[in-house]
Amino acid sequence: MTAPDSSSPTPLSEVRKLPKTDLLLEAADRAGLVARLGRGPVVEAIREDLDRIRKAVLAGESCPTPGAIEEALLGRLAEVARGSLRPAVNATGVVIHTNLGRAPLSLEAIEAMRWAAAGYTNLELDLAAGERGDRYGHAEGALRRLTGAEGAVAVNNNAAAVMLALAALMEGRPSEVSASSPQPSPPARERGSQGDEAPEVVVSRGELVEIGGGFRIPDVLRRSGAALVEVGTTNRTYLGDFEEAIGPRTRILLSVHRSNFAVHGFTHDATLAELVSLARAKDLWVVDDLGSGSLLETRPFGLGDEPTVQARVAAGADLVCFSGDKLLGGPQAGILVGRREAIRRVKRHPLMRALRLDKVTIAALSATLAHYERGEAAREIPVWRAIALAPEALRARAEGWRAALGADGAACEVRPPGDADALAARLRRGDPPVVGRIEEGRVVLDPRTVMPGEDDALVRAIRASLASAGAAG
Ligand SMILES: *Cc1c(COP(=O)(O)O)cnc(C)c1O
Repeated sequence: MTAPDSSSPTPLSEVRKLPKTDLLLEAADRAGLVARLGRGPVVEAIREDLDRIRKAVLAGESCPTPGAIEEALLGRLAEVARGSLRPAVNATGVVIHTNLGRAPLSLEAIEAMRWAAAGYTNLELDLAAGERGDRYGHAEGALRRLTGAEGAVAVNNNAAAVMLALAALMEGRPSEVSASSPQPSPPARERGSQGDEAPEVVVSRGELVEIGGGFRIPDVLRRSGAALVEVGTTNRTYLGDFEEAIGPRTRILLSVHRSNFAVHGFTHDATLAELVSLARAKDLWVVDDLGSGSLLETRPFGLGDEPTVQARVAAGADLVCFSGDKLLGGPQAGILVGRREAIRRVKRHPLMRALRLDKVTIAALSATLAHYERGEAAREIPVWRAIALAPEALRARAEGWRAALGADGAACEVRPPGDADALAARLRRGDPPVVGRIEEGRVVLDPRTVMPGEDDALVRAIRASLASAGAAG
């Protein structure tokens, strides 16, 4: 029936039968999509679709019916109308999930973002003196009190914090009294180069990590203008390795927390305290890239031992860098805390201006830090609430879902029936999108990271996905 014969249409005659742009535009209008998106984007989408189909048909593919063309177009436009960045249900059980936007914020942080965005603020105005104020100062007091550091400043993210820490400190030694005016930028040969003159940063080979999203410590080092000196081996690095690597151009000893993997077995690392005492003796800086940077002890929550920021400050690091949206549970930010002189050099560095925070983020960060100051972080900050959820609470929610879905699963999770990859894809494309994890060929939905109040929407989305699976299969 599909075999070509003398009566089969030619590609050219098929192309002539494609629906007209105006007809498709009317259909989009009837569906309310022109009102939602504006005429321009709809017309552009129609032209794109028709062009693509025309080319395919001329190349010999069969021509879709006008009905099918219209349906595909309206589906695509409805997807665009929902917006690119959308709320999603995190049913992965991974509390700090970079692809899902990391930390959800506390109610007070959200409220702070609202007023900061909606009106004017004293961002750079000292209200008492009526003079220009310090925009970097808003979160500094809280960060100092919470971490025990002499100084603190926040920038756009932790990658920026690490880059800035290295760029600012490699320009001189701790003993060198820094000028009070902004420092001139380093000579061109030091910038982004690894020439003979570049200051050196010493780091353990075992800590030359990629954090994800292409953030590689060696690349960041190079961008900051420093030359990288690797010491030790992947699994064993001793203080003596650092000591031997120190030369006349060495400025910084860098420690990097292995956030996303662990090295087990035959291992050794120099401790931060050891690096600090070596650095003091040799007039060098110590920068600690802590990554997650928890202010709470993690062990009582059943997590592995993560060093707290306070402990790293107490060990004497000149700068400790950590993220605002990992275990701190705040907005995307990179926080630097440390010794007065180091923080002063960071604030004066020309890159500081390029990496600084906006008022909305400063407001959310300050509100998040206030939870820690009031001793209520575990109760009010969503990431800690999720981490602290008791097994009974997880079991009760999972049982509720199972009852609504007729699914099975271990105590604290749900495993809907069906082909895992196909079901996971339908859940992701649902409304709201639901993201689970796949284990042993089954989709697993974990209540730990599903926000309070999302249960009904989640159950509806799962039902719809299972129903469309039934319809398809
Ligand atoms: C996550 C992480 C970073 C990057 O932090 P961002 O806030 O994502 O920029 C850097 N270093 C370590 C050790 C990390 O864990």
